[in-house]
Amino acid sequence: MIRTRALFRAVFFFALSLLFFGTAQAAPVSIVAAESTYGVIAQAIGGNKVAVDSIINNPNVDPHSFEATPAVARKVARAQIVVRNGIGYDDWMEKMLAASPSPQRQVIVAAQLDPALILADKNPHVFYDPQVALLVAEKLAQLLQKIAPADAAFFARNLQRFQADLTRVTEAETALRTAHPGLSVTATEPVVGYLLRQLRWTSLSEKFQFDVMNDTEPSPAEVARFEDNLRHRKAALLFYNRQVTDPLTDRLRTIAKESGVPVVGVDEFVPPDTTYVQWQLQTLKAIAQALGQTH
Ligand SMILES: [Zn+2]
Repeated sequence: MIRTRALFRAVFFFALSLLFFGTAQAAPVSIVAAESTYGVIAQAIGGNKVAVDSIINNPNVDPHSFEATPAVARKVARAQIVVRNGIGYDDWMEKMLAASPSPQRQVIVAAQLDPALILADKNPHVFYDPQVALLVAEKLAQLLQKIAPADAAFFARNLQRFQADLTRVTEAETALRTAHPGLSVTATEPVVGYLLRQLRWTSLSEKFQFDVMNDTEPSPAEVARFEDNLRHRKAALLFYNRQVTDPLTDRLRTIAKESGVPVVGVDEFVPPDTTYVQWQLQTLKAIAQALGQTH
């Protein structure tokens, strides 16, 4: 009896230690994403093997004027992988990485993965290009496989799934491009520049859009031209950045509505509880609906 109890105890502690060391071994890889767009991609590839922290995830924040806090600095210092956008979109993260050097930490800069994909106007909103999203996902899978080789097959499967899912976005883009070839559109900020390239649509008043993005006052001539594009319906659509607004962009939205130019609200990053693919499909659907296409 005593023997049985001793044996039971030994087995119990053995099991307990397995549980403990097993858990310790499988500690999730810590990933910090500057923006939630990259956070949701990291989650899609890493699943339950990663702990993702997205720093800018509030849809009411202007990402172009974000200021990081000491709490963010601590997260960045501990991260094994950091994903950021680049092209001046998140210089705060660059500063933070420089402030806490770590030779083990891996940094992915989305806009630097394939310089050939970057628009000549250096539009920083690269996340509206599914090809950039795929490059980020591939790089994440590669780094995770190196950090946690035991889960290599798991990451590979997730990458495959992400890539397959992404074809729904490119298919929806092709459908929209075919239904509405060669449109001229305009926007309060160049948020969907990479999407417009996919659609082969022309973006009117780009100078104005970049001024709003950079918090520079657009010239009266630029404003007048923008208004004219709306009033005379030279623009088939107005893309309205919901995250970067001011009295001027509000007024232009009103003029668009009065002039019968459909307005499509767009975001700078993935809204909560939404995957990257769902977000892109939602935007494409909103565009199709605004243009009177009902599927
Ligand atoms: Zn922006």
